[in-house]
Amino acid sequence: MSSDFRKRVLLADPRGFCAGVDRAVAAVERALERHGPPVYVRKEIVHNRSVVERLRASGVVFVEEVDDLPEGALVIFSAHGVSPDVRAAAAARGLRTIDATCPLVTKVHNEAKRFARDDYDILLVGHTGHEEVEGTAGEAPRHVQLVDGPDSVDRLHVRDERKVVWLSQTTLSVDETLETVRRLRRRFPDLADPPSDDICYATQNRQVAVKALAPHCDLVLVVGSPNSSNSVRLVEVARDAGAGAARLIDTARAMDPTWLDGVWTVGLTSGASVPEVLVRDVLILLGEYGFDDVHTVTTASETLVFAAPRELREL
Ligand code: SF4
Repeated sequence: MSSDFRKRVLLADPRGFCAGVDRAVAAVERALERHGPPVYVRKEIVHNRSVVERLRASGVVFVEEVDDLPEGALVIFSAHGVSPDVRAAAAARGLRTIDATCPLVTKVHNEAKRFARDDYDILLVGHTGHEEVEGTAGEAPRHVQLVDGPDSVDRLHVRDERKVVWLSQTTLSVDETLETVRRLRRRFPDLADPPSDDICYATQNRQVAVKALAPHCDLVLVVGSPNSSNSVRLVEVARDAGAGAARLIDTARAMDPTWLDGVWTVGLTSGASVPEVLVRDVLILLGEYGFDDVHTVTTASETLVFAAPRELREL
């Protein structure tokens, strides 16, 4: 596909850790330093296998729910957020909690609460079963309906077509969400928009960067775990933007060298929960196969940093 005779890598920038993931992982590390193990985390703190395994080795215990934790235990809520029911269950057991929910997820929770208070039907665009969606829907279960892609629009029923708003999961494909919203608006012309973008800056920036390099690539590698929504979206975006092929790999070990047959240009990026060291490992491996000409494709500069969770600042 490429006419360049030197094998090269186009490296997306921005890529990797976002401000919300950085904050959540740092919160767990600080809690461990201050309290010592075991520190409990409800669900995966962020959707990345390497991060979870490293923290587990340091004494973090990941649990599915808070119900079985010993009274007084310290539990951290993950970056994806929790519903009020989970907070109530933790309080009922007398657990100490640190809330590492990304502030940009909390923003969507607050929108859901506000529109529910005003008695809107809330159409939440997102993926069935994703923890973030469960947390957001849990803020207003009687008002929220999940819209999992454009094809689910026809199945919706609302009470008053003049009082309908759409909100979304923070890690969706921007283009697919626009398509879903177009379909929603065709059915509900008075559909209200969220007060500001729900798809977060990090998701959008990583998609813009991969879109810029994908048309020039025979293969795009996205470093990320299969349960990471924003990483999986990057693979889809790369394919849609014209990459010869696009694959998700958790680590360099998952790369199959036969993928490089006939390839001259590899695009490389990583999801918002992926530590940079995993990208470096892939670069080293690509170098061993002759891909040692690395160009960075920069489409945005990110400077956002979130303050630590309130409970850690107060300690
Ligand atoms: S991907 Fe976006 S919403 Fe999710 S933790 Fe990162 S900044 Fe927050």
